[in-house]
This record gives sequence, C-alpha cells and structure tokens, in this order.
Amino acid sequence: MQSRKNHGKDLELTNEGTLSLFFLGSGSAFAKQLNQNNVLVIKGNRHVMIDCGTKAPMALSRLGLSLAEIDTFLITHSHADHIGGLEEAMLLGRYVAGNKQRMIITAEYQEILWHQSLRGGAEYNEVNNGKGLGFEDFWETLRPRPLAEFARDTREIQIGDINLKIVRTNHFPEQSQTWEQSNYCVGVIIDDRVLFTGDTKYDPEFLETYDRKFKFERIFHDAQFRTGGIHASVEELKHLPKPIKRRMLLMHYPDSWREHTDEVRAAGFRGFAKQGYFYDFP
Ligand SMILES: [Zn+2]
Ligand SMILES: [Zn+2]
Repeated sequence: MQSRKNHGKDLELTNEGTLSLFFLGSGSAFAKQLNQNNVLVIKGNRHVMIDCGTKAPMALSRLGLSLAEIDTFLITHSHADHIGGLEEAMLLGRYVAGNKQRMIITAEYQEILWHQSLRGGAEYNEVNNGKGLGFEDFWETLRPRPLAEFARDTREIQIGDINLKIVRTNHFPEQSQTWEQSNYCVGVIIDDRVLFTGDTKYDPEFLETYDRKFKFERIFHDAQFRTGGIHASVEELKHLPKPIKRRMLLMHYPDSWREHTDEVRAAGFRGFAKQGYFYDFP
C-alpha cells in the first residue's frame, strides 16, 4: 500500500485500474475540523462512495465534484455522519440531474433507511393519485447476494472491477453484545484485500475470523480515545494481536487526534488514515 495526498483541487474519480481509497474525511460524528468518515473506492472507470454524511456535499464540492457525479453509493448505517448528505443526493438526482442515483443496499436496510430517515424530506415532494414517492423513485437499487460460507451475515457485489463484501457489525445500541443484537450496521471488505470496518464497537472475534480468511493488507478501523459507548477505543484495540495492529490505520477519530500520534505508534498501530489522502493498492 502507498499513500499520497491529493494535491490538485479537483479529485479524479478514475485511474489506471489500481484499487484506491480516498478519504473525503476521517473525523468522528462530532469532529469540527475534520470531515466525516466517508470514503471513495476508485478503480479503473468505476467508483463507490462509502457513506454520505451531512458534510459530504460540501467536502465533494471543495474537490470540484457534485453528488450527482457519484457512480454508486454504499451506506454502512443510519447515523447522520453517514447518511446526512443522502437527501441532497436523491433530490439532486431526481430534480436537477434527471436520473436515479445508484445504491448498493439490502431489502432489509432499504426499509430502515427509507422509513426511519429519508422519507420525511422526500415522499411528498410529488403526489400522484394521492400517493407520494418511494425509495425506488429516487434510487436504482443494487442487491448484494448473501454468501453462505460465513457465520455472520456477509453479502457480495461486484461494481465494475471492484469486489465488495458487506459484513454485519456490532455498533449500536451501547447494550448490544453481538452483531445480531445490533441495529443494522456493516463493514466492507474491498477486493478481498482491505477491511474497512465502518463504525463498530471493539470486536476482536470479527477481526480475527475475517483476517484469518483474507489476510488483509490493510485494516481501516474506527477509533475513539475514551472507552465506552458505541465505538472501539484505542485502549481496547491495543489488546489485538501485533500482526493485526501493524496493518491497522485508525479512522473516525476526534479533532484531537494529533495529540495521540505517539501513543498510537507506541502501541504498534500503523497510524491514522488521513483526510484528503489516497491509499493505493497496486
Ligand atoms: Zn460515525
Ligand atoms: Zn455510527
């Protein structure tokens, strides 16, 4: 893996065919100096945007891009730092660009995302025969197929040359002990090489089981600097085996992250994933 800063103002959404992750942001839900932890997965002439938080439209705009240019969206869960930009994306698609946006989504999560979050700002922009609009009036849905060989709910989809496996994780509420008890939340395995955990509590069983199978080149992991609540803490992640920590870049952190650089290095982690950087996997 090589990392490089995006120096140009405008971000390129295509490349020669190398798997590349671009961090539009690396901040937690409450970060103010950092954008939210939303990532573009780019390979050849296709790309997938993992999560689209409230700040994503502005973050893209500063890079010369509009939400209407996003090829395909993949949403990990319904917190606003991951879905807050979706209303703009869908209204822009229907009323400005004049086409549906594409989203990788299970039928189960589509129900949750529409009825608990998106419906309020979308359903009654139009009424036909007394009926408002539905999710599929705004979105072309791409369904990942379930994979039987995993103990946890794991699904797969191919977008151009990008292979994505979507794994259920344990994020919220605070009380949930397992992924089955958790509200819908997923991590993403990219090309069987990279694990992007998304938001998750400390879950060594998840990391060790999937790493045994895939031997990830890099693991991008959610991290906070206090223990408790619905995210993994650096203190908890320190207990992971050394070979896992060595390949782990922390993400979804608060504005104070620089104060923890020495601690994170000393604990054996690779470091922090940084906003505005590409992570290339030739
Ligand atoms: Zn989050
Ligand atoms: Zn979250």
